[in-house]
Amino acid sequence: MKKKIIRQILLLAGIISAMFLFTSCSNEKTEPEQNFEDLPLDDFTAATSNIMTEAPEGYYIVTGNFLYYVSSDFQESTIVCSKPDCVHNDTDVENLYDYTSCDAYFFDARQIDYYDGYLYVSNWNGTGTDIYRVSLDGTERTLFYQGQVDCMFSIYNGYAYFGEAAYTTEGKIHKLTACPVEDPDKTEVLFETDEYPDATMNRMRFYHGNCYFYLFDSAFRGEEGDSIYWKINLRDGKAEQMYEQSDCRMEWNDYGILAEVKDYITFDPTTQWTSKYYHIDPDSGEKTELTENDFSAIGTNDAFTNMDDKYIYFRTTDSDGNELTPEEQKIKVYDYEGNLQAEIPTKDVGEMIWILPGTDEHLFIQTTVREDGSYALWYVDKSDFNGSTVEPQKIELAGRG
Ligand SMILES: [Zn+2]
Repeated sequence: MKKKIIRQILLLAGIISAMFLFTSCSNEKTEPEQNFEDLPLDDFTAATSNIMTEAPEGYYIVTGNFLYYVSSDFQESTIVCSKPDCVHNDTDVENLYDYTSCDAYFFDARQIDYYDGYLYVSNWNGTGTDIYRVSLDGTERTLFYQGQVDCMFSIYNGYAYFGEAAYTTEGKIHKLTACPVEDPDKTEVLFETDEYPDATMNRMRFYHGNCYFYLFDSAFRGEEGDSIYWKINLRDGKAEQMYEQSDCRMEWNDYGILAEVKDYITFDPTTQWTSKYYHIDPDSGEKTELTENDFSAIGTNDAFTNMDDKYIYFRTTDSDGNELTPEEQKIKVYDYEGNLQAEIPTKDVGEMIWILPGTDEHLFIQTTVREDGSYALWYVDKSDFNGSTVEPQKIELAGRG
């Protein structure tokens, strides 16, 4: 009898201590709240790069192998290295390894994000992707995650997300993996497919609790290749293939999906095409063709390029085979009612590659620098959108040479 009671007490004590252990564990590693609705706009995603991020005290930018800081008003810039007489001042270094003593140097930095006092930088190391946790002054750098060859990286709502391709003898397996930023060992696979072994993952971005990306397969069907669009619901992990279309350009948000589908007329002697534009309802999936009555840019066959909470961005194209004159080169900004809110001349920005919706306050334009293949960035103040022309301003990066 006595024995039985003791056993029960021991059992009870065991349960209590297990409960205590469980609660103390979960208290110790609190997972970030999954509240997605009120997150501010934070979209600096180009195809497979993400070269700038916003921090409370300004912006951080990686381009041309170095990490830079730019103040919130874009007027001040420094390289993120305070070593005196550092090699970053030498512009004629022949062996890149000489730069490794510089706090701001990366072999090939492709993506940057900010979270809770630290920068996270993904760096191609020649055989794979290293994601580093970097202090804001550049002096501390620790390995946060070791990714595969193809590795998209982003921090969203306290979690780090990795869009990776693992190679097997059959081809690539595409995966979306996540972990709390505070607990990188706790990774979880949210999505996995081996159906597109030759595809690459593009434009992994996050919006209102969903992860969006597309797998682009150049050989999948036809010479233009196919884009297969995915949406992963981060609340329940549900993966949804949204759309599959050759040479299609799509963006998504609460307004639904906007898609531009190109129809080629000829490739010779110049490439000419017309486009059809669609709105796909996010709930019913109903597809409606849009016309120039919806957005005047559709009448001139402009390229649908991006969208954010408030605006839809088109850029002028040479779809009729005639090169654009400098005056014709522009970004057209519309509100959701189809009112033209701004025209942004782009003749002076150089080779424009991406319109980045950026933040609630600023739009960014990413261009390539022809001489060295690095990127340049321009900003546009969204509060200037009032129906007229708004000139882009260059972000000057200072601190080298
Ligand atoms: Zn340096």
